[in-house]
Amino acid sequence: MDEGSDSRFWLKIFNIFKKNGHDLEEHILDAKDDGEIRGEDVSMLLNILSLRDTTAEDIMVPRTDMAAAQESGTIREVADLIVETGHSRIPIYRETRDQIVGIVHAKDLLPPMLSGADQNQPPTAFMREPYFVPETAEISGVLNTFRSEKMHLAIVVDEYGGTAGLVTLEDIIEEIVGEIEDEHDETRPEDVQDLGNGRLRLSGQTELEDLAEGHDIILDSEQVDTIGGYLTELAGRIPLKGEEFTLVDRRFIIEEADAKHVLTVLVEPLTT
Ligand code: ADP
Repeated sequence: MDEGSDSRFWLKIFNIFKKNGHDLEEHILDAKDDGEIRGEDVSMLLNILSLRDTTAEDIMVPRTDMAAAQESGTIREVADLIVETGHSRIPIYRETRDQIVGIVHAKDLLPPMLSGADQNQPPTAFMREPYFVPETAEISGVLNTFRSEKMHLAIVVDEYGGTAGLVTLEDIIEEIVGEIEDEHDETRPEDVQDLGNGRLRLSGQTELEDLAEGHDIILDSEQVDTIGGYLTELAGRIPLKGEEFTLVDRRFIIEEADAKHVLTVLVEPLTT
């Protein structure tokens, strides 16, 4: 199916179910209750439906975490970055990350590296065209383009044309099937570790939503989604190691932070 007939197909399906005043989600849940669909299939089906409401911005790797290389650098530097980060596709930029001019794939660098070609040559001869999507792009559409154009990576741009981040096929598939650990993924520390007696250790990236749902720690913000972002917003700068905040009857202590991020936070009840 092409992209157009794909979305027409889905529209038809939605309309069939909407006619009866039910939506597709309810039908799927009913089918689960009746034992017609297995639990793990239900969550995948529901995840597929929620792709409609998920944008590139929601799932992208932010520009600060992108492994990217300069157009004026060398293929040796790009190869080193691939080895260092384990990422096989490296965006190449002109002057700043806001100007991505191509993507170098590890597969395209192997032949020149192995055949003794000049390792100091720039990566430009080995670049593929970048595919750009706006932050607001629905990821179901991005997935369709990945399929039809046989691509795996998109550069996400903000409304001013600057680079916001990147999204790969794996990020979208993870939205459907859950986290995929590939052989190069570093094992990420648990976002929330329960230390007992009401004490928690949080990674700075812990989502506020997860704290509210899983631990009844309700911290709301219009601006940020993570605990690291929340404490940074509160302090008006990146908080320092050892700094403490009293919030929602608990003490939040910055356990580790570097110049750019809050890495871990200890949470304890005020009474201890
Ligand atoms: P790879 O195996 O080459 O890292 P995947 O498409 O499997 O590529 O992506 C795995 C994860 O790594 C995804 O979350 C993706 O967004 C991220 N990723 C891929 N390429 C880069 C890159 N150049 N810089 C930062 N993150 C990347």
